[in-house]
Amino acid sequence: MAPFSPEKLLRDRLGRPPGVLRLSLTARCNLSCPYCCPDNKEPEGLLSDTERVELVAVAARLGFSKLRLTGGEPLLHPSLVELVRHLAGLRRDGLQEIAMTSNGQRLTPLLARDLHLAGLDRLTLSLDGTTAGSVARMVAPASKNSRGAHCLEAALAALEAARDAGFEPACGRLKLNAVIIRGRNDDQVVPLAGLARRVGVELRLIEAMDVGSRNGWSPSQVISADEIVRRIAAVWPLEPMGRATHATAARWRYRDGQGLLATVASISQPFCGDCNRLRITANGIAHTCLFSAEGSDLRQPLRAGPDVLRAALETIWSERRDRYSEERAARLQSPNSAPVHPEMAYLGG
Ligand code: SF4
Repeated sequence: MAPFSPEKLLRDRLGRPPGVLRLSLTARCNLSCPYCCPDNKEPEGLLSDTERVELVAVAARLGFSKLRLTGGEPLLHPSLVELVRHLAGLRRDGLQEIAMTSNGQRLTPLLARDLHLAGLDRLTLSLDGTTAGSVARMVAPASKNSRGAHCLEAALAALEAARDAGFEPACGRLKLNAVIIRGRNDDQVVPLAGLARRVGVELRLIEAMDVGSRNGWSPSQVISADEIVRRIAAVWPLEPMGRATHATAARWRYRDGQGLLATVASISQPFCGDCNRLRITANGIAHTCLFSAEGSDLRQPLRAGPDVLRAALETIWSERRDRYSEERAARLQSPNSAPVHPEMAYLGG
C-alpha cells in the first residue's frame, strides 16, 4: 500500500507543519499536582467519542499523524478502551501513532492489556518522586505520607503492568515523566534517574512551567535542564544525543549503557521554532499553544460535517503564530502584558 500523504502541505505563519494532536478526554483528575491544579470540573458540552474519532480522522488527513490522549487524567474516561479501538481504525487516514499520558493510578494489568490490544502504541506515566513523602508533596498539597506511599505503589505497579502488557520501554513505548520544582521535589532528580535506570525506562525530566493561573509559578521554581543534567551526570556520566526536530525533549545516553534520559526545557531552551502541536480540550476547543488563552470552538464545524471541519482546522493552523516560550522572558518583564494562560488540566499539558 502506498504511504499516506496529507491532503495538502499545511503550514502555519511561521512555516511549521502540523504533527501532533493532543486530545484531552476529561478535565478531571484523581491527583492534585501543584503544577496543574485541576479543579475537577468538566467544561460545558463535552465531545462524544464519535465526535472525537471524526475530529481525529479529519486532523490526521491534514497531517496530524500523531495523537496523544491527555486529560486531566485520561484513565477516568469511562469508554477509553473502546475509544482507542475506534481511533486505531484511523491508520488508513494517516494516523501513525496513538499515545497517552497518564498518572497510572488506575492502570490495572487488565486495563493495560486491553489498551495495548485496542491499539494504544505508547504510554507515558507520570511520577514526580521516589519516596512516600516526596510523592505526597507532589500529588496533593498537605496530603499525608500514607497517600504518597499509596500513589507511589500504584505508579510502580502501573509501570510493571504496562511493560507486561507489551508497552516495551526499549522501543520507546513506555516512558516516565517527572516535573521538577525547586524546593518541592528537586531532591528527587537523582533518585528518579536511579529508579528509571533500575526499571529500564527512559525518564523525561520537565522544567516547571507557568501553565495556567493557579499554580503560583515563579522563575525561582525552575531547575534548568542544564542543572538537572549536571546533577545526574555527576553520578552517572551522560552524553548528549540532541533534540529531534519537532520533539519536546532533548535526549541523553548514559555512558555506562544503562539507558536514556530526556529533558524538556521549555523555560531555559524553548523549542517553539518547530512546534507542531495542536491541543483540543475535552469540549472541542482548539488551542494552538499551551499558553494561548484564546481557543477556537470546533463543535459547530464538527457537527456541520468533515468538509467544514477540515476548513476550520486549516484556517486555525494557517493563522497560527504562537511562540510563547520564546517570548516569555520579554512578556514577563512587560508590566502591561501579564499573561493569561488556560489551565493545564483543560489543555492536557
Ligand atoms: S510555547 Fe507554544 S508554540 Fe512554543 S513549544 Fe510550547 S506549545 Fe509550542
